[in-house]
Amino acid sequence: MAKIFCIANQKGGVGKTTTSVNLAAGLAKVGQRVLMVDLDPQGNATMGSGIDKRKLELSVYDVLLEAASITEARVRSDRLVEAGCSYDILGANRDLAGAEVELVELEHRETRLKTALSQVQAEYDFILIDCPPALSLLTLNGLCAAHGVIVPMQCEYFALEGLSDLVNTIKQVHANLNKDLEIIGLLRVMFDPRITLQQQVSDQLKAHFGDKVFNTVIPRNVRLAEAPSYGLPGLAFDPSARGSQSFVEFANEMVERLGTMKGVTAVRATSADRPVSLSGLLHKREQ
Ligand code: ADP
Ligand code: MG
Repeated sequence: MAKIFCIANQKGGVGKTTTSVNLAAGLAKVGQRVLMVDLDPQGNATMGSGIDKRKLELSVYDVLLEAASITEARVRSDRLVEAGCSYDILGANRDLAGAEVELVELEHRETRLKTALSQVQAEYDFILIDCPPALSLLTLNGLCAAHGVIVPMQCEYFALEGLSDLVNTIKQVHANLNKDLEIIGLLRVMFDPRITLQQQVSDQLKAHFGDKVFNTVIPRNVRLAEAPSYGLPGLAFDPSARGSQSFVEFANEMVERLGTMKGVTAVRATSADRPVSLSGLLHKREQ
């Protein structure tokens, strides 16, 4: 039965999509069965997995609106099969931007992805969800469906800014909608050890969050940045690049963590927690 992970951070450009597609490819490379769900209307994870978002017949949008099942909508890229790191893709495109508005009117609006995933969960070891850069109803669908959240972050001065919003949202989802949810870990990405500040922030993260910081560090690596323009994860584009290798290492770390996950709840909800973020989030949309 697959474990489901959201790759989330409400900041844009922090490496969510790069993490999603390369972790998916890395897991596939080490023999895991993987489904990657693109939950961002920009469709970057779809394009970066070798699927043309403009040509998608069915997408995650149709699944959320219950117009299609995941079995009908998922696709696979031949190029990833050739590269030996193939995974299934539930793609996204601009249609998804409209889902946000349409979902508000519907029943079970925050658990639609969860319900859809439950039908295919037995077919995979990992399901990864690439979230949009906002704490939106789409992200909420991701968080409700997931067992854990992977938070990619750059080791910069403002890295932690905004993290508390994400942590609060996760706490509220944990308290109200999804008792399984926990933060699996913070992933240091685009890391450049030559920059003293990055090293310092990295050390601080370790000191503060301990084993909630993944051991694997993803370096800044130009091959990872080039790969999307070829419609491939770095791991398929240039498997020997340092950045690609780091995602194989991360995939192995995730497989190891899976063994220790059961029953652990990192984000504990106390009775003092009030569902401020969550109700605020939904409330705004109801008006
Ligand atoms: P997000 O999904 O959070 O918006 P992306 O994964 O799209 O972020 O990354 C933002 C930009 O940074 C992209 O141009 C991507 O290619 C680049 N990038 C991401 N990770 C790395 C890395 N480790 N090394 C170099 N460039 C990276
Ligand atoms: Mg993205």
